[in-house]
Amino acid sequence: MSIKTEIRQLKASLPDSVTLVAVSKFHPAENIKEAYEAGQRIFGESRVQELRAKEEILPKDIEWHFIGTLQRNKVKYIVPFISMIHSIDNAKLLSEVNQEAAKQNRIVDVLLQFHIASEETKHGLTIEECTDILNNDGIRFLTNVRIRGVMGMATFTNDEAVVRKEFQTLKGYFDTLKNNYFKEISSFNEISMGMSDDYPIAIEEGSTMIRVGSKIFGARTI
Ligand SMILES: *Cc1c(COP(=O)(O)O)cnc(C)c1O
Repeated sequence: MSIKTEIRQLKASLPDSVTLVAVSKFHPAENIKEAYEAGQRIFGESRVQELRAKEEILPKDIEWHFIGTLQRNKVKYIVPFISMIHSIDNAKLLSEVNQEAAKQNRIVDVLLQFHIASEETKHGLTIEECTDILNNDGIRFLTNVRIRGVMGMATFTNDEAVVRKEFQTLKGYFDTLKNNYFKEISSFNEISMGMSDDYPIAIEEGSTMIRVGSKIFGARTI
């Protein structure tokens, strides 16, 4: 199927409450353009250099989401244009985004990334690390980041029960944080979970944002 057809069918199948982030990492700009022409405006990238190169040549009304591991020294390159950073997994990174956003006079939306999978290679906070960050007084001075919710990646496995359980864990973290820290804050409302192989389960478990790459753009070579 063409990229346009994939985008149209996928979008038509999603509930209104779910936002599609089309993950275009490692795919060329012309493929993004094709998805754009089918009406897609939100794209996810995981490497700073690649994202900058694409941002420069593609339409300015694209909303770029950063979904990969982010090094603190590279934050400054994406803050001028990024719409959302899904991968905040430590306090220093959050503070760096805030500092760079302040310089640019911007408020950047971010998600707190949790470690929910069994693989050690996947990044993310534990709920204890997260509450430490949120309990710290310094959080009050972060005027240029808006914490919009949580993100997580399930274990890469065919065992649906394992994946479902991990998504339930992430939804539980969201509910706890909402209740304890963001009760009155309506913009804390995003649960970013679900990829090509598991997004239907993620939606059943409360996802508000799915990050789908290979289903739309085809298999990546790396
Ligand atoms: C690559 C990637 C995706 C998309 O994965 P697909 O299986 O191609 O849909 C989603 N989220 C993150 C964090 C990724 O790195």
